[in-house]
Amino acid sequence: MNTLTLYIPREGLKHQTGHSHPESPDRLNAILSLLQKSPFMALPQIEATEAELHWIKRAHDPRYLERLEEMVPDYGQTYLDNDTVLSPGSWAAALTAAGAVCQAVEDVTSGKTMRAFCAVRPPGHHAFPDHGEGFCLLNNIVIGALHAQSLGCARIAIVDFDVHHGNGSDAMTRIHDNIFYASTHQCPLYPGTGHAKDNIPNRILNIPMKAGDGSLPFRQVYEQRILPAVRHFQPDLLMISAGFDAHKDDPLAQMELETADFAWITAELAKLARECCRGKLVSALEGGYNLAALSDSVAAHLKALMD
Ligand SMILES: [Zn+2]
Repeated sequence: MNTLTLYIPREGLKHQTGHSHPESPDRLNAILSLLQKSPFMALPQIEATEAELHWIKRAHDPRYLERLEEMVPDYGQTYLDNDTVLSPGSWAAALTAAGAVCQAVEDVTSGKTMRAFCAVRPPGHHAFPDHGEGFCLLNNIVIGALHAQSLGCARIAIVDFDVHHGNGSDAMTRIHDNIFYASTHQCPLYPGTGHAKDNIPNRILNIPMKAGDGSLPFRQVYEQRILPAVRHFQPDLLMISAGFDAHKDDPLAQMELETADFAWITAELAKLARECCRGKLVSALEGGYNLAALSDSVAAHLKALMD
């Protein structure tokens, strides 16, 4: 069994968001450059294929999927909302991003690999059943979680350390059984949701953080609240919405984490997966908009997943 396998659909490069958009193909190029270096070049890499539509329909309203496909332009760009761009390659990129997470789930649950990292774009955690927003078209992580359940993995825990609240993932978790969603996110910040008052025991654990909080409060929140809650939930599979925009150099937020914090939380989550679910862990990229910080943070994340 491989310890860590990478799922990297190059189709993601064809989702063109236009000049100066922070969620750009250069993010994936930065990760591809990193993966040409030691020790990552030795990791098995899989070029994923598109998710089947009926897998995606477990999470999304079919009318939204029809509308989204129809809105994709033949040339140039259109806008799903002020921030969320569609280009001719966006539909195939979105299907392949979801497909990568589903394939990772299949390979982890079948025992081909213990852990998986999916370098996907567009990201997913702001996508709702009936609409996309915040750079996200399809909710890759929840589509993957529901795919895992279809394969007999009953209980799925999703831990989301992206600096933004995964409002789409939170909304989807509320309507599907046996999924646990935990998020740390800067508040106030887009999308303005994820308040502690909306938490549901053993199901939704949102922990808003303040701008400038930095490493210590972040680690304390995981040690004292999120890791014990995941342990209590006893998942059959642990999934990570791995956004790296809480990094101190990120242009979209001010949570002031260091690269070492991503190494730390990844190692803690890998340890917890070993404890709860024989190590089974699937991580999918969400945000991270400073290219150097993204590359460094993904390197730290992967090193911790290789151990
Ligand atoms: Zn984010």
